[in-house]
Formats: sequence, structure tokens, C-alpha cells
Amino acid sequence: SNRQAQRELVSSNNDKGSQGKFDFIPTEQDLRDAIDNKQLVLYYQPQINMETQSVHGAEALIRWLHPEFGIIPPDKFIALAEQTGLIEQLTEVVIQLAISQSVQWQKVDKTIRLSINISAQNINSLKLPEQLKMLVKQYELDPSLIVLELTESTLMDIEVTSLDILTRLRLKGFQLSIDDFGTGYSSLSQLHKIPFTELKIDQSFVANMKKENESKAIVQTCIMLAHKLNMEVVAEGVEDKDTWDLLLAEGCDIAQGYYIAKPMPADQFDKWQFKG
Ligand code: C2E
Ligand code: MG
Ligand code: MG
Ligand code: MG
Repeated sequence: SNRQAQRELVSSNNDKGSQGKFDFIPTEQDLRDAIDNKQLVLYYQPQINMETQSVHGAEALIRWLHPEFGIIPPDKFIALAEQTGLIEQLTEVVIQLAISQSVQWQKVDKTIRLSINISAQNINSLKLPEQLKMLVKQYELDPSLIVLELTESTLMDIEVTSLDILTRLRLKGFQLSIDDFGTGYSSLSQLHKIPFTELKIDQSFVANMKKENESKAIVQTCIMLAHKLNMEVVAEGVEDKDTWDLLLAEGCDIAQGYYIAKPMPADQFDKWQFKG
């Protein structure tokens, strides 16, 4: 069968897992089972305040720990989750895991933020705001430490009710971030309608800024725009010192990328962050 063939190919290519040449293509039922069997976990990638060089927070990034295929990255299953409606359950799991992690961090450091990626469907109903409200109350957590990331491409066809839900989340104190900025087609008026507190420059511009003047110009413009609109700016995909230095000179607030650290499991993040 197709599945059997996939298994053989992957096991002969074990160290690369799903990132190898031969892809595991999950079905809706696979994903449903993964949720039920608690195979979805979060990795955390640090974000650094560029000026103080201290840890600003971490972004929670989902991974599927598949018993046969290894670590499956999100781009292999988030679209499927969105198409099948499973994204509602998936995000519920993510929020539960992320917030309990954040509660652990708060015991050691009361300033560390946690960024969570959410999809457009998650703001079509009141489910997400209600879950967030409930958890924040249960754990007595400061909502301003929770950052909800929405990709710019999500915002193109956002409905009025979703705009309303985002505004209400902001009024409750949650932070709102516009992710992958520069790659979507949202208008500036759309950007203005939603009370974003953070702008994340897409990594494609960051990765090219040291060798391409156009990318550098886009990064500079993003930083300026964000600051004029009273938002903090995060550069993602910072892979080397040259890029870090350029971003610092341009006044970028926060950096995230392999130059600092790759996403890692919670226990490793604890060692990285609270060492000594
Ligand atoms: P994103 O939110 O833009 O996350 C950043 C991605 O860039 C992550 O990939 C991260 O591992 C990668 N990255 C970070 N630093 C570097 C770097 O220096 N160089 C390079 N080349 N890559 C870097 P990842 O974890 O595979 O996530 C991909 C996308 O999947 C995310 O993009 C986000 O849109 C989505 N995603 C991840 N977790 C979730 C989730 O829990 N829910 C939803 N709805 N989407 C998620
Ligand atoms: Mg993100
Ligand atoms: Mg991004
Ligand atoms: Mg992205």
C-alpha cells in the first residue's frame, strides 16, 4: 500500500525523519488520532530583546511526534487541520499546553512572554476567547504575557465578527501580533483596524537583508511602520551575527532565529533559559 511504501522509505531515511526526501502525507483520521493520542507537542523558540540581550519570551511551535515517522513539522498538517475543521481541537490542545508551560515559567521569571500561533477559523467563534479567559482566570495569569499571532495572509478576508473578537481579546489584555508581515496582501487600513501590539517581519526579508538592498529597505520600512503605529517589532529568521548587527542598528526590538536558538522541547528550553 501507499502507507506501507511510505514507512519503508522513511525507515531507510531515519535520521531525517519526515524532513527527508519521502514525505508522510497524513489523512484526516491520522490527525484525529494524533490529537486523541496526545502526539502533538510544543517546541519553544526564544525571542531576545535586542537592546538588553535578555529573554523577551518564546514562540510555541507545534510538532507531531509520530511513532513511526518521527517529528512532523507543522507545514505538513496545519493546512489539513484548517481544511477539516480539526484546527479548533488542535488549537485548544496548543493553548492548554502553552499556558500550562507559561505558568511554570512564571514561577521563575514573571516577565517572560509566550507567543501562540492561531488560525483564522479560531476567531470565527467565541470558543478561543472563552478558553483563554478561563485559563487566565484559573492560573491567575497576566494576559499581557500571552501573544496571539495571526499571519498577515489570514487577515485578507477576515470577517467583521472576527475583527470584533480580536478587539475584545485585546481589551482583555492579550497581545496581538501580525505574523509573516510583508508576504500577505492585507491592506494598511486592515492593519490599522485591528489593535495589533506586535509586528513580525517575515523571515524571507530578514534572511536576505545583508545581501539584498531591497530586502533591507523592506525591513527598515517595517520597523518604521511598526514604531509609528506603536507596535513592537520582531525579526524572525535571524541566522547570523551580521544580520543581528544590522537589525540592531535599524532599531529592531526583538530577534528570533537560529543565530540565537532553534525551537526546542520545554525541558531543553528551561535549561537554556534558567541555566545556573
Ligand atoms: P511561523 O509562526 O512564522 O514560525 C516561524 C518558523 O520559522 C518556525 O517553523 C521556525 O522553526 C522557523 N525558524 C525560526 N528561526 C529560523 C531561522 O533562523 N531560520 C529558518 N530557516 N527558520 C527559522 P515551524 O516551527 O516549522 O513552523 C512553521 C509555521 O507553522 C509557523 O510559522 C506557523 O505559521 C505554523 N505553526 C506552528 N505552530 C503552530 C500552531 O500551534 N498553530 C498554528 N495554527 N500554526 C502553527
Ligand atoms: Mg508565528
Ligand atoms: Mg512568521
Ligand atoms: Mg511562517
